[in-house]
Amino acid sequence: MPITVVGSIAFDAVKTPFGERQRMLGGAAVHFALAASFFDVVRMVGPVGDDFGEAELDVLRSRGIDVSDIEHVQGGRTFFWRGEYGWDLNSRETLDTQLGVFEHFAPSLSGASRASEVLFLANIQPDLQRAVRAQCQDTRFAALDSMNLWIDIARDSLVDAINEVDCLILNDAELRQLTDKPNLLSAAQEVLSWRPAGGGCVVAKLGAYGAALITPDGYFSIPAFPLETVVDPTGAGDSFAGGFVGYIASQPPGSRLTAALLRRAMAYGTAIASFNVEAFGTERVARLTLAEITARVAELRRMTSFSVERFRGVRGGR
Ligand code: AMP
Repeated sequence: MPITVVGSIAFDAVKTPFGERQRMLGGAAVHFALAASFFDVVRMVGPVGDDFGEAELDVLRSRGIDVSDIEHVQGGRTFFWRGEYGWDLNSRETLDTQLGVFEHFAPSLSGASRASEVLFLANIQPDLQRAVRAQCQDTRFAALDSMNLWIDIARDSLVDAINEVDCLILNDAELRQLTDKPNLLSAAQEVLSWRPAGGGCVVAKLGAYGAALITPDGYFSIPAFPLETVVDPTGAGDSFAGGFVGYIASQPPGSRLTAALLRRAMAYGTAIASFNVEAFGTERVARLTLAEITARVAELRRMTSFSVERFRGVRGGR
C-alpha cells in the first residue's frame, strides 16, 4: 500500500562526540521516507526553499520516493535545525531551529498523496498534521509522531490529532509528559483510553534501549540492535517509524493488524533505525539494501528469543 508522509524536510547541522556536519540533508519526513521506501511507494509532502536542489531530490528519487508533492517556495529557505549530542547519545540539545518555509506552510495534497492507504504524520505543528489527515479520507492506517514543543504549546490540538490516527509513536519521556503519568505503561494506556472508538496502538521510543508497543490487548518490547559504534542518532526515531509503518504498508490491503504483524513491524523499525545511527544523517540509510535489513531482523530474532523449560524451583522453595 502506498504511503504518504508529511513533515520536516530539512538541512541539519549536527555535532556528536564522533564528528560533525555543518549542513546535511535531514528532517523527519526525509528520514522516514528513506526507511519506508523499502516497502512501497512513499509520497512526500512538505515545503522546501531555494537552497534545496537537485542533489537533495536525487537522494530521495534514487530510493523511488515520489517527490512531486514537495513544494518549492520561491524565495524561501528550507527548514534548518542544529543539534549537539554529548557522550550520552540518548539526550541532545537543540541549538537552533529556523522554520523558514514551514512558517507559512498550508498543506495541499495531490490526488495521489490523498489516496495513499497509509499515512505518517511526522513531527510538525499538530494543526498541520490534522489538515493533512482531513485530506486523506482513504487512509486505512495512520500514525503520528510529535515532540515536547507541541505538548508545551499546542497540547489540545495534539490530543485531537492523536485521536484521529491509529497509532501514536512518541519518545518515552514525551509520552509521560503528554499524559502526566509516571510510567510508560500507564501513560500509553491513558492515550489508548482517549480513543472514542477503542483499539489503536502506542509505540514508545526508548532511544538506545529500544522500543515498546502497547495495545489494548498487550505489551511487547524490543531492544535496540546492539552496535559498537554509534556515530549520529539524528533521525533514528523517524527511521524506526519508517520501518514500522513501512512494514505495515507492505501487507496486502485489508490485512488485520494482528499482534504478530505489529511485532514484526517493530523488528523492521528497529533494524533500520540501527543502520541510521551508524553514520551521519541519511548517509547510511541512503545506501542500505533490503538484504542488509532482513539479515539484521533475523539477527534481532536470534538475539531476543529464548526457550522456556519447566523450572523446578530451588531447594526449600515452592
Ligand atoms: P529524530 O532524531 O528522529 O527525533 O529526528 C530528527 C530530525 O527532526 C532532524 O533531521 C531535524 O531536521 C528534525 N527536527 C528537529 N526539530 C524539529 C521541529 N521542531 N519540527 C520538525 N522537525 C524537526
